[in-house]
Amino acid sequence: MRRQRQAKIVATLGPASATPEMIRALFEAGADVFRFNFSHGSHADHHARYQIVRRVEQEVGRPIAVLADLQGPKLRIGQFAQGRVSVEAGQAFVLDHDATPGDAHRVCLPHPELFEVIGPGQSLLIDDGKVRLQVESSDGARILTRVVNSGVLSDRKGVNVPDAVLPIPALTAKDRRDLDFALDMGADWIALSFVQRPEDVKEARTLVAGRAAILSKLEKPAALDRLEEIIDVSDAIMVARGDLGVELPPECVPGTQKRILRTCRQQGKPIVIATQMLESMIGAPVPTRAEVSDVASAIYDGSDAVMLSAESAHGDYPVQAVTMMDRVITEVERDPLYRTLMQAQYAAPQRNRPDAICAALRDVTGILGASATVTYTSSGHTSLRAARERPSAPILCITPQLTTARRLALVWGVHSTISEQMHDESQLVGAACQAAVREGFARKGDQIAITAGMPFGQPGSTNLLRVAEVWG
Ligand code: PGA
Ligand code: MN
Repeated sequence: MRRQRQAKIVATLGPASATPEMIRALFEAGADVFRFNFSHGSHADHHARYQIVRRVEQEVGRPIAVLADLQGPKLRIGQFAQGRVSVEAGQAFVLDHDATPGDAHRVCLPHPELFEVIGPGQSLLIDDGKVRLQVESSDGARILTRVVNSGVLSDRKGVNVPDAVLPIPALTAKDRRDLDFALDMGADWIALSFVQRPEDVKEARTLVAGRAAILSKLEKPAALDRLEEIIDVSDAIMVARGDLGVELPPECVPGTQKRILRTCRQQGKPIVIATQMLESMIGAPVPTRAEVSDVASAIYDGSDAVMLSAESAHGDYPVQAVTMMDRVITEVERDPLYRTLMQAQYAAPQRNRPDAICAALRDVTGILGASATVTYTSSGHTSLRAARERPSAPILCITPQLTTARRLALVWGVHSTISEQMHDESQLVGAACQAAVREGFARKGDQIAITAGMPFGQPGSTNLLRVAEVWG
């Protein structure tokens, strides 16, 4: 089974997508990566979903990536007796340390640090800024606020404090527990929320110790000041527009998204565009035209993947949302303008052998009209550098490492298959031709371009480019 598109789809799992039937349906509709959101759900919930994803992976015979998204130092309100309350503009609302379920006049804010740094005149933005509370006073035990705009507050919604610098570490105690759990579970990617400095990523990398790849979520203005460095130390990036659009004025988000995209494409780091992509599909079977346009623009700009959050986690139409993304991506990639834009954004290769070989791979593929590019890789490095080139044919990745195959499910154009360890070039050419036919990329007589690093198994050694005619 192969997808008929290059860009990938990340679908968040949640209560609406927790059964084997639903997870399988999401995969079949086009989800390449499943995101486990550690801001919600118990470890038991995540573990049960993880087992289902791995069973689906077995059934369909395709590697699937699991992205464990750590909550990070995100502030959240507590829970309400009725799950949700309506608040009216002008009314008083209190945040306190009392864990008793809240009501229309108060709720717990379980972050004592905040009570120390918040002061009169500052704003607390709840639920991605949908409700704004203006602080009137804070005495360490209670923050008294006035509701600026009417709206609904519900259990554990996020709180942003754009005007205060919060003395909170990059990984909270909860994140460390979740990280251990996610790594033991077998997550392929760890997403770090609210990254502000490259040091945050390095700290996490020490803890992860190679057991997963690291994706940094960019959602704090502070991260933009050190964008290149953060991208450099990360394995992938997410433009997390939910929090980013609360911390920054919303009109600054599109330009910021494009700047992050451009920098990631230059550095050859996979990039995911996330949040509210098909938001209206939480409650409707068809998206707005503006949402479709947003997904399409992210693809035209060269993103590796687009993501669904609430749409697939707790919406009414999870499968339809994935199907819609699949259709939009497929349509964009069919447009000749897409290739033109890819070429216009082309960033020169770095002066090293893997990049030189992959640039040649792209040229050879285009000139010969090859049906597929084949990368043989152990670490995934060769496939990543090939994907950076955005060649005109899909990237068939052959790897002896299941973890590599799974991680690469996030990356533009990469379709991975597991093979035995290769020992010489002719064995590789044979395996490449066989896999190209078996996986539906080529037929007898087609040309394929193959790249690998010799000696095999050494990351960063990409130095071989071979063109082969597929024999039947
Ligand atoms: P979240 O991240 O859903 O974990 O908040 C995405 C975002 O902020 O856009
Ligand atoms: Mn966020």
